Amino acid sequence: MSKKCRTCGKAEMTSRAETYLYTESGLPNIVLVSVEVRRCPSCGHHELVLPRVAELHRTIAHAVIRKRARLSGPEVRFLRKYLGWSGADFARHVGVDPSTVSNWENDKDPIGPASDRLLRLMVAHGATVDDYSLEELTKIENERQPPIEVRVSPKARGWEQVAA
Ligand SMILES: [Zn+2]
Repeated sequence: MSKKCRTCGKAEMTSRAETYLYTESGLPNIVLVSVEVRRCPSCGHHELVLPRVAELHRTIAHAVIRKRARLSGPEVRFLRKYLGWSGADFARHVGVDPSTVSNWENDKDPIGPASDRLLRLMVAHGATVDDYSLEELTKIENERQPPIEVRVSPKARGWEQVAA
């Protein structure tokens, strides 16, 4: 199944499996091995054929969070986008100014260790904006309160929280 190049229209695209530097990810060193790349022999236009993109990005994200050094700016941006957060979302969730997130992502300032860990944990736990009520966490008041009371009772299959 061949087709004409969409860019120049002069030639048929060729297709073959390649080792491909996936800079479209926003990360500089992601190498895709044996992926289909279609190229135009006339103008050089190429198209990357990526099956199961969500799974690919999950695999990359989980590799990034195992890095044994502070996250780089592009890594912060990749993980933040992977979670489906805008820069403003991420700033609100970690409790910093949006310009701070921008500085992290552009390597102007290193990400703080607590924010680095939070970002990794969110990825590790598969959290997304939709299934996590982090909005509630951002409303936590700073005033001192006594420790909360939690009442739990043993049940047949574990423990259950019960009303006061
Ligand atoms: Zn072409």
